[in-house]
Amino acid sequence: MKLIVGNFKMNKTVKECREYAIRFSGLKIPKNRKVVLCPPFYALENFSMTFKSKVAVGAQNVSFEECGAFTGEMSASMLKSAGVSYVIVGHSERRMKLGETDEIVNKKAKYLQDAGIVPIICIGETLDEMSKKKTVLGAQITKDIKGLKNDFIIAYEPIWAIGTGKACEFGEIEKTHEYIKDKVQRLVGYDVQVLYGGSVKPANSKAILESKLVDGVLVGGACLDPEGFSKIVNS
Ligand code: PEP
Repeated sequence: MKLIVGNFKMNKTVKECREYAIRFSGLKIPKNRKVVLCPPFYALENFSMTFKSKVAVGAQNVSFEECGAFTGEMSASMLKSAGVSYVIVGHSERRMKLGETDEIVNKKAKYLQDAGIVPIICIGETLDEMSKKKTVLGAQITKDIKGLKNDFIIAYEPIWAIGTGKACEFGEIEKTHEYIKDKVQRLVGYDVQVLYGGSVKPANSKAILESKLVDGVLVGGACLDPEGFSKIVNS
């Protein structure tokens, strides 16, 4: 079973999300695919009610505080009440533009696990860091998963591949996933699912998903059109 996660980022109005849900709910999902859709906060409940068990619903962020004076933040319990079962943490856009550190990622991931929500932890290197990729990813993994229990997912997203149309070369995805799986196994003693993200589209998803080392994909831009996203799901 491969996991296909769609991240809407900061796109689509309430009405557009509703239309998306109606269109996507009419499309086929093969038995060997599990789909998680991560729309903006205001569409979470509508997605949960429209899709029921057909598609899981994920959020794009969470606070690590449970309640109180944190204007604009959203707790894990609030997300759960909207039907959320996955949350993306440490996306490179949040790390680079909104100051999300490895320590914050780790706090959020622990808090999500305590609430019964699965964290999807994003890691990745910049173009400048390419020559020391393993060191960069190794440090992120060590800090981000410290103290976590057995239910989390890693998304390998080379930052230079996100939204650029240039996906990571296939052999390099496999080599990097092998490294990540091995690193996590050595740190915690069990296997985790590793997704690939970065310019996944209908034209390259089949080849990527065929690899035994790829447990699924995290899709940004190409998930915004329901029919196009369905092609990835069915590839
Ligand atoms: C992402 O947002 O995590 C992502 C991978 O974006 P894109 O598919 O557009 O590269």
